[in-house]
Amino acid sequence: MTKTSYPVVWDLDVFFKGGSESEELRRHLDETKERLASLAEKFNQFETPTSVDQAEAVSSLIEEGTDISHHIRQAGAFISCLEAQDMSDHKASTLRSEVTELSATYGAAFNSFKQKLAQTDENVWQGFLEHDKLSELTFVLNEWRDAAQEQLSEDEEALISSLSVDGYHAWGQMYNTIVGGMTVNVTVDGEEKELSVGQANNLLSHENPEVRKQVYDKLEAAWKEKESLFANTLNHLAGFRLNVYKKRGWDNVLKEPLDINRMQQDTLDAMWGAITKHKQPFVDFLYRKAELLGKDKLEWYDLGAPTQENSQKLSYDEGAQFILKHFEEFSPKMADFSKTAFEDGWIEAEDRSGKRPGGFCTGFPLSEQSRIFMTYSGSMSNVATLAHELGHAYHSYALKPVHPLNRRYAMNVAETASTFAEMIVADAAVKATETKEDQIALLEDKLQRSVAFFMNIHSRFLFETRFYEERKNGFVPASRLNELTDEAQREAYCDAVNSTSSSYWSNKLHFHITGVPFYNFPYTFGYLFSLSIYAKALEEGTNYEDQYIALLQDTARMSVEDLAMKHLGEDITKEAFWEKGIELCKKDVTEYLELTSK
Ligand SMILES: [Zn+2]
Repeated sequence: MTKTSYPVVWDLDVFFKGGSESEELRRHLDETKERLASLAEKFNQFETPTSVDQAEAVSSLIEEGTDISHHIRQAGAFISCLEAQDMSDHKASTLRSEVTELSATYGAAFNSFKQKLAQTDENVWQGFLEHDKLSELTFVLNEWRDAAQEQLSEDEEALISSLSVDGYHAWGQMYNTIVGGMTVNVTVDGEEKELSVGQANNLLSHENPEVRKQVYDKLEAAWKEKESLFANTLNHLAGFRLNVYKKRGWDNVLKEPLDINRMQQDTLDAMWGAITKHKQPFVDFLYRKAELLGKDKLEWYDLGAPTQENSQKLSYDEGAQFILKHFEEFSPKMADFSKTAFEDGWIEAEDRSGKRPGGFCTGFPLSEQSRIFMTYSGSMSNVATLAHELGHAYHSYALKPVHPLNRRYAMNVAETASTFAEMIVADAAVKATETKEDQIALLEDKLQRSVAFFMNIHSRFLFETRFYEERKNGFVPASRLNELTDEAQREAYCDAVNSTSSSYWSNKLHFHITGVPFYNFPYTFGYLFSLSIYAKALEEGTNYEDQYIALLQDTARMSVEDLAMKHLGEDITKEAFWEKGIELCKKDVTEYLELTSK
């Protein structure tokens, strides 16, 4: 291994010098604000086109809009980095509100432009799609048009969106306010601590089962105490959503989430169908895990607990070399790209206090660069996280040649490149282990993920669809929400877990997110979709590289059914496709059961 020393602190000065006190950023924001005001005015005055001759004007408005949105996102990305690297940077929070306002103004102005454009007469519209600057945007433009046609009038939609601030999003914010004030008292290592629910949740994977049980009991009690408040927040935000759907004439509550993810109901049904048929191996894994923990059956609070700690430690440089070496086996281009990211200070990895927990990757559209945030403390799971985030960065890089409007991929394909990159490293890590214990720990890590996607997310999906159906007939009380949750968990986990978490409907933020409906199935989709790509890459090695890049470049300009057909030759409305990804995960179970058999 060559001796290198990559920077562990990122370089943000290339974007704006001087952090949250940056003069450059100040000027950038002021200029953007001015340009946005003039653009909003143009969007305002824009009228539904009546002649093909207006294609040029439409195109230049789109370009101007895109450029300004890039300026807003450039500032937004910079501020996210500032906030994450130092949680006490108050100036950054002030700047954050400024950018949030710019985005909201931009969003509203752009929406009204889209709505008016979408009303264009069919002949003129077809003419636009043949125009040399607009033709590459065909998919996205048609999507705007379809959406506008399925919605109410422009005035009605504008009214809904203004009422939603207090009548819809406010319920989600109310939820956050209540949760933010909740604490639980737990005793860990003889010391009593008052913890936020987020901190307490982290203790559910504590190695000591008594700590886990105590935390679980305290958390359940804390959520139970406030259940009537949460029944209100959930019922009212769901009620608002259902009412909007009803007015638009949409019966299927999944219509909106499916449209957002550019996928068909058949695809979703095939995915869950295949998963439901192949749960047995994961049930076997849960029973084996219970046995290793000295139990007949796992309790809910054992699900996140490890039976084995991985003891391997890698320095940052070693971690980087490990990633580069294994990326190289699949894609030399991805390896080269990642090397640049390591060398040029694209990554903030230092283990120091004051940083936000977790990891992310954010793009700077004007500079065509990304930045990765995480805290590297040397564990194998840190290496996997780093690979994951590099995958996200590579996705953005692969999209560079396509029009910015063709880079806006949906949530279900957003994790394609990251999961792919993480899989490469996770598999290599299992192979590179020196002891059986380490191997078990890493396999268990991988399997925990499969259980999360096939069982936990499935339970969330079952609960949420059933809840929305019942909500159509009126308010669903907390007692019924508890029952629905229990049922969904027992079903999704095939009764392999002794207890449930009845409060799950209230303690999972995802049910209360108003920005995105059904924040669950896209996770499972992304995981399995990515696994199928990985399976193909395993067969074809580096020959697959260019096909992989071509697939990434199409992630935001066609439906997922077309994407899979074009690049994988697969019909994803059929269960057979989904079974291939599940098959890879089943192999992990087989290996795990062998390694842990007595
Ligand atoms: Zn990710």
